[in-house]
Amino acid sequence: MTTEQRPSALQARTLYRFFRAGEEETLALQGVSLTLEPGELVAVTGPSGSGKSTLLSCLAGIDEPDGGAVLVAGQRISHRSEPIRAGLRARHIGLLFQSANLFAHLTVRQNVGLAQRLAGRRGALGIGSLLDSVGLAKRGHAYPGELSGGESARAGLALALANDPAVLLADEPTGEVDSAAETQILDLLLSRAREGVAVLVASHSPAVSAAADRVIRLDDGKVLA
Ligand code: ADP
Ligand code: MG
Repeated sequence: MTTEQRPSALQARTLYRFFRAGEEETLALQGVSLTLEPGELVAVTGPSGSGKSTLLSCLAGIDEPDGGAVLVAGQRISHRSEPIRAGLRARHIGLLFQSANLFAHLTVRQNVGLAQRLAGRRGALGIGSLLDSVGLAKRGHAYPGELSGGESARAGLALALANDPAVLLADEPTGEVDSAAETQILDLLLSRAREGVAVLVASHSPAVSAAADRVIRLDDGKVLA
C-alpha cells in the first residue's frame, strides 16, 4: 500500500537575509530553518532586532530571502513572481500584525467582507460566524476607532482568518493589549491551531511562549539550539 505524504504547512530552508545601508551590513537572518505542521502553535521569540519580523515577512512571501527557500503547503513561495507569491499568500496564509490593518472608514463587518472578497473567498465562512468566532458578533457595525485595544486585536484576527488560511503568521499580536486581552487572543490562536491551522507567533511575551506547543529562539538571525 502506498501512503501519500502530506506536505508540511510551512517550511523554511536555511533562510538568509542581509540588509545593506552604505558601509553597514545587517545579517538579519543567518541560515534559519523551521517546519510548521498543521495543528501546532509555535512561538518565535528573541530580543528586539533578532530577526523575527524579517523571518515572518520572508515566510509570508512579502519579503524575499537572499538565500534559502520557503515552501507553503509544499509549494515554493520564495523567488517566484509577485503575482504567484500573492496568489499563494491569498490561498494559504493569514497575517496578523501588532496593529490591526483595518480601514478606518469601514465597519468591522465591512472590513472582514472586503478581506474575504480580496481573498476570493466570499462565503468560505460567513462573516457572522467569523466575527462570532473572535467574540465580535455584537461589534460588527462598529468602526475601528470605536473599538477597545482587545477588540481591535480580535478584529485584526478576523481579518487574518478571512481567507480560511492553513497557516497563520502573527507578528507581536499582543504587543499593544493588556494581559486580559492577551489571554483572549492566545486562546483564540490556540483554538485555531486545534482546528488544524499551523500558527506561528513572533513575540517576546512570556505568556505567548508559555501557551505555545514549541518555542523557536532567535538571536542575531540564528536559531538557538
Ligand atoms: P525583530 O522583529 O526581532 O525585532 P527585525 O526582523 O525587525 O527584528 O530586524 C532584524 C534586523 O534587521 C535588525 O537589525 C533590523 O535593524 C534589520 N532590518 C530589518 N528590516 C530592515 C530593512 N528594511 N532595512 C535595513 N535593516 C533592516
Ligand atoms: Mg519585529
